[in-house]
Amino acid sequence: MRFGACLLALAAMATGLTACGNSAAGSIVDKAKNDKKLVIGIKIDQPGWGLKKPDGGYAGMDVDVAKYVAKELGVPESGITFKEAQSANREPFIQQGQVDMVVATYSITDERKKKISFAGPYLVTGQDILVRADDTTITDVESLKDKKVCGAQGSSSPKRLADKFGTEWESKNLTQQQGYGACLPLLENKQVDAISTDATILAGFAAQFPGKFKLVGKPFSTEKYGVGIKMDDKSGRDAINTAIEKMFKDGTWRKSIDANLGEFGKFFSSPPSVERY
Ligand code: GLU
Repeated sequence: MRFGACLLALAAMATGLTACGNSAAGSIVDKAKNDKKLVIGIKIDQPGWGLKKPDGGYAGMDVDVAKYVAKELGVPESGITFKEAQSANREPFIQQGQVDMVVATYSITDERKKKISFAGPYLVTGQDILVRADDTTITDVESLKDKKVCGAQGSSSPKRLADKFGTEWESKNLTQQQGYGACLPLLENKQVDAISTDATILAGFAAQFPGKFKLVGKPFSTEKYGVGIKMDDKSGRDAINTAIEKMFKDGTWRKSIDANLGEFGKFFSSPPSVERY
């Protein structure tokens, strides 16, 4: 019956492109408007960004951006299903339609743009280094040459170090976990000497465990955080960019930074410009 209805609908469509099932080819704009529901991929182990709370809810700047964008697309908070995304499964989640969008400390890169598309950026940060509070030997990226470093699989951060120091360094010095939260015990127990990823994420960890870790504070890349959606969904990108710009203008962006990033938030004095394409 459903299949029949589907065929009829297809026959009625001049384009014939509307899919009948999960992998709808349409824009996130239509899906949000029609269903009033969205599935959104977020991190759940990054304080200040995407963190699962003891009560089962989620908190962080990415969560705020996700809720704001959803609302602008016509989806109330009760219509959002948050799904845990890890660095490595963000593109596949979007490509396979397991999520409608990803808001997860997700850097806009040309390589990723071959598989998915991005709205934003809504924040710009840089790759940095987290060490134990008493470490004095790691002062910049060059110091990592002889050190053991932890990163997350599928994240651009460990890749940048592997590209810099080579494959031998990668096999001897780099440990990759599913998420950055899993790197923390390794740093604490001295199985690694450093965690390297975006300063924003590391500052959140440092604030979570006062006195245990410190941020080196010498960023060595430019990471533009975007909202990932399906490849070629131009009207989706446009609508999300408009929502992000509204979040910048009406004060919600500032409020979210202050609420989620604490002291570190003062480094973000003004919002970036969104990049429309
Ligand atoms: N922003 C970087 C990335 O998108 C590192 C953080 C992360 O993996 O979530 O790969």
